[in-house]
Amino acid sequence: MSLRGARVAVAGGGLAGIAAAVEAAGRGAVVTLVERRPFLGGKAFSFTEPRSGVEIDNGQHVHLGCCTAYIALLARLGSLGLTAMQPVLHVDVRDRAGTHGVLTARRLPAPLHMGPSFSRYGLLTRAERLRALRALTTIAALGPRGRDALDDVSFGEWLRAHGQRDAAIERFWDVVILPTCNDRSDRVSAALASFVITEGLMRTQGGASIGWALAGLSHLVDPPARRLIARAGGRVVTGRAVTAADGAGLDLDDGTRIEADAVVLALPPARARAVAPRALPHDPGLGESPIVNVHLWYDRPVLERPILAVVDSPVQWMFDRTAITGEGAPGQHIDLSLSAARAEMGVPREDLAGAMDHEVRALLPAARDARLSRWAVTKDARATFAPAPGQASRRPHARTAVDGLALAGTWTATGWPATMEGAVRSGITAVDEIARQVAR
Ligand SMILES: Cc1cc2nc3c(=O)[nH]c(=O)nc-3n(C[C@H](O)[C@H](O)[C@H](O)COP(=O)(O)OP(=O)(O)OC[C@H]3O[C@@H](n4cnc5c(N)ncnc54)[C@H](O)[C@@H]3O)c2cc1C
Repeated sequence: MSLRGARVAVAGGGLAGIAAAVEAAGRGAVVTLVERRPFLGGKAFSFTEPRSGVEIDNGQHVHLGCCTAYIALLARLGSLGLTAMQPVLHVDVRDRAGTHGVLTARRLPAPLHMGPSFSRYGLLTRAERLRALRALTTIAALGPRGRDALDDVSFGEWLRAHGQRDAAIERFWDVVILPTCNDRSDRVSAALASFVITEGLMRTQGGASIGWALAGLSHLVDPPARRLIARAGGRVVTGRAVTAADGAGLDLDDGTRIEADAVVLALPPARARAVAPRALPHDPGLGESPIVNVHLWYDRPVLERPILAVVDSPVQWMFDRTAITGEGAPGQHIDLSLSAARAEMGVPREDLAGAMDHEVRALLPAARDARLSRWAVTKDARATFAPAPGQASRRPHARTAVDGLALAGTWTATGWPATMEGAVRSGITAVDEIARQVAR
């Protein structure tokens, strides 16, 4: 639906706000995007780490082939070329003892594409693989309604009721669920987890292909979104916080007001409530789940693959940043991405880097004699909303009680976990909503 000539104000310059602004501009609106911080990108940004002087991301971000709205946004911004994606999923998984498995897609029609690698997945016994296959088949048959009905149950509970034991949950199911939902199956809504399994692993052959940024995350969105919005006659205001919002505009912390015909609030829930209490009368109470990243620079290559998942180790997922970004420094920069890192949040950064270095040396023979030249740690206690059972009923829809004002943000009712894809989809849904209202 067109927004030709309408003035649209968007609060919040994370991916949801950027997607809303780009979508509204594409429909002919004159957009003003307001972001509190000096840069766009929200929870997905890069910065120069002061101790190392290297540009790093606030946390390793990956997207999957099924993240079609995020990919389309980057294409629209002209920055898709700053990302790469595996032609088909390929992840090496191992445990501390060195047992190895591979999850990879074959060029077969979905859902058979995962069959050959799964039938040889070395981290499960043959009996465990058969039981897991039965559970996968049950999930595939659930359909959207069947999945939604599982929101009050934890995925761990559901898996155990379907024949999965602790070892299989840790060594297969959580390899998928922990990084995508940012918690372990026992703490994740079965609706959300079964959605991820279906959408990522089973619906299409390329759905689980892993993509990543080749440059710092900020380069993907900040300059390109500013350019696109300006070209469409709009503007981006950074370094100004929205203090109040209604369907007719935004008040900013410098005392100015931006008048608008419609407003999208793409803020974290507490901020959205503070600036527009009528739009979000109750705290959705979703809770938060942290993510910690530990960057280690070694004087030589220690990790042979671009990505390695490790079960039964605090390391979880390792990324070869040197290979991913083409970083010029000698040696190798690896990033350990720790989801649901509640325990690690309280550990001093230096101790954490030391503990992870120790673990990497235990896991990778090539690291044993390597010299650690630098390290850096990023922590975000509020990285994502908690994907816990009951989340679906707590996540509000884009439409609010305030005429002309819609909500966006990864925490709104997208059906997706807290991901870049969920954020982008929420922004587009919010624009659909205001466009309907403006057309009335
Ligand atoms: C360390 C880490 C790793 C992650 N890894 C992945 C991953 O691998 N894959 C994936 O898909 N997702 C990942 N995510 C999640 C993903 O980054 C987020 O879900 C997504 O970026 C959220 O976008 P958003 O626009 O909904 O919210 P936000 O990014 O939180 O945007 C909200 C914006 O509003 C601004 N704001 C707040 N108050 C005001 C105000 N009063 N006025 C104006 N502006 C205001 C904020 O500064 C912010 O820019 C990760 C997140 C983190 C933190």
